[in-house]
Amino acid sequence: MDFTVLTIFPEMVEPYLQYGMFRKAAEEGYIRASAANIRDYASGRHRVTDDKPYGGGCGMVMKPEPLTAAIHAAKERCPGARVIHMTPQGRPFDQEMARNLSLCSGLVFVCGRYEGIDERVVAHAVDEEISIGDYVLTGGELAALVVMDAVIRLIPGVLGGEESAEKDSFTGRLLEHAHYTRPAVYHGESVPDILLSGNHAAIESWRLESSLVRTFLKRPDLMEDSVFSKEEARILTRWRDRLSRIIDNS
Ligand code: SAM
Repeated sequence: MDFTVLTIFPEMVEPYLQYGMFRKAAEEGYIRASAANIRDYASGRHRVTDDKPYGGGCGMVMKPEPLTAAIHAAKERCPGARVIHMTPQGRPFDQEMARNLSLCSGLVFVCGRYEGIDERVVAHAVDEEISIGDYVLTGGELAALVVMDAVIRLIPGVLGGEESAEKDSFTGRLLEHAHYTRPAVYHGESVPDILLSGNHAAIESWRLESSLVRTFLKRPDLMEDSVFSKEEARILTRWRDRLSRIIDNS
């Protein structure tokens, strides 16, 4: 899969692509990722990429010509690439969007700065607008890296055998269960016995219960309108009965 980040600060983006999963995925041939400098597509001696807004007001707006030329160049390298404008006004990013984007042959990220980009670029050269949350960053670079990071780990093969996205939070309806590693006792707190038992069925059942508890405590909204499996319903009914007994006895 081909990733291009269009930015006036490629130096901010490039180092991130050299580490961890980005590096591994590139070395193993799953991805090609690079940052392109929008300034390289600007004309004139000063290669200006922004200008004052029509209608007045403060701030600058990123000019359409260099952006469009940079998008065209990226699409020439990967004609099937989807062009994504990072903007706080876009569709809020989530795991399902990451999964859909992981099926694309390429992604081109348009990173704004200042007040944002000329609206005509959005109209003519952008396929989709994505926001990483209801807050305003100074530029789209971090937002593009967030989306890329979530997408690459969903490309089949990238995570390898040891890690898996299958049980991750937001893959199903529940958050992922709690995790523990050595030492078995830390700050006086022991790892749950069951995880040391070697009984795989019991461990799976403990993990499901852990997922249910965490989702209920941290993100109860995810459980609303859920259709629970028999095992989940059995665990939830057990709690309900236990809670009822505690309340009745109080
Ligand atoms: N004036 C714009 C507005 O109010 O919608 C905000 C511009 S912001 C200061 C500059 C750039 O940062 C945007 O063009 C966009 O690329 C990026 N950006 C800021 N917040 C973002 C967010 N929550 N998600 C994605 N990109 C964001």
